[in-house]
Amino acid sequence: MKILIVEDEQKIGDYLRQGLSEAGFVVDLARNGMDGNHLAMTGDYDLLILDIMLPDLDGWRILKSLREAGRNVPVLFLTARDSVDDRVKGLELGADDYMVKPFAFAELLARVRTLLRRGAAPVSETHLRAADLELDLLRRRVTRGGKRIELTAKEFSLLELLMRRRGEVLPRSLIASQVWDMNFDSDTNVIDVAIRRLRAKVDEGFEPKLIHTRRGMGYMFDTPGED
Ligand code: CA
Repeated sequence: MKILIVEDEQKIGDYLRQGLSEAGFVVDLARNGMDGNHLAMTGDYDLLILDIMLPDLDGWRILKSLREAGRNVPVLFLTARDSVDDRVKGLELGADDYMVKPFAFAELLARVRTLLRRGAAPVSETHLRAADLELDLLRRRVTRGGKRIELTAKEFSLLELLMRRRGEVLPRSLIASQVWDMNFDSDTNVIDVAIRRLRAKVDEGFEPKLIHTRRGMGYMFDTPGED
């Protein structure tokens, strides 16, 4: 597993590189935005750890150019900024996780492992289940409470994404890039319409409701009352 760190603070960069190397990862370290962007666009990484405030090209710009180029590599933002606005901006641009400095290395490592696991779903997986909803990934069939639900191919992909990332609020930009192969600037109304249709098929007439709206942030699949 190969990780790129883009961090201009020398001590933090060295510390991360050493810690992640000792944890068994192959690690590249870029100390400014231009080098980081170049490596991110040309290298084959499983995960990026991106500082936001960087000389010459900030972390947001790097993430934006990556997503616009259709690169879906998981990105963990690491930053001293901790306002809610910054968090939302990072997630809307398609960041997968966000950590505020100072951080504990153990927590960073746990999040890195989670992001990498998510990127590598086991190939033997054939079904996704939540409450009485079941997705048959091989036959591309959906049932709820044993009743067959007819979905279009896009609706199926959308539901699969939501279920795989259960409990997480997914920004429209992320849904757009993963299901429609659109970039961040595209019209996100398409997603709202698709969610409405999906919800009508999957949630109407059933309890509990599984697809939830987080105003101003995105959509989330969850089974209230379980876990
Ligand atoms: Ca910095």
